[in-house]
Amino acid sequence: MMRTLPTPSPGASCPQCAGLRMYALTYNHTATCTLRARTDSRGAADHAMFGSFAGTRTRDTTTTERALLIAAGIPEQAIPDQVDLDRVTTSVLVPRWDGIDLGGIP
Ligand SMILES: [Zn+2]
Repeated sequence: MMRTLPTPSPGASCPQCAGLRMYALTYNHTATCTLRARTDSRGAADHAMFGSFAGTRTRDTTTTERALLIAAGIPEQAIPDQVDLDRVTTSVLVPRWDGIDLGGIP
């Protein structure tokens, strides 16, 4: 029997600023949302930590990512402790969690 992966709920929004989820784990945060600031900081840290590798690297899931996944409707118990970061271009790393289908990137 095939297992159905958890997917985000339609109309999910940021638990802090109520900005709507746009795709994957990207929300339309307000400029002052601290979850936006933490997400931006994590992205910069990932680029600094992983350099210009090609492929996938793994690190721990952050508390901010966990909060945004839960806000998207992913059951907390389905969220892995680690996230895979796939490099899709020289400047874009896309997070991917085993067992969760966040949908495609537009
Ligand atoms: Zn927000």
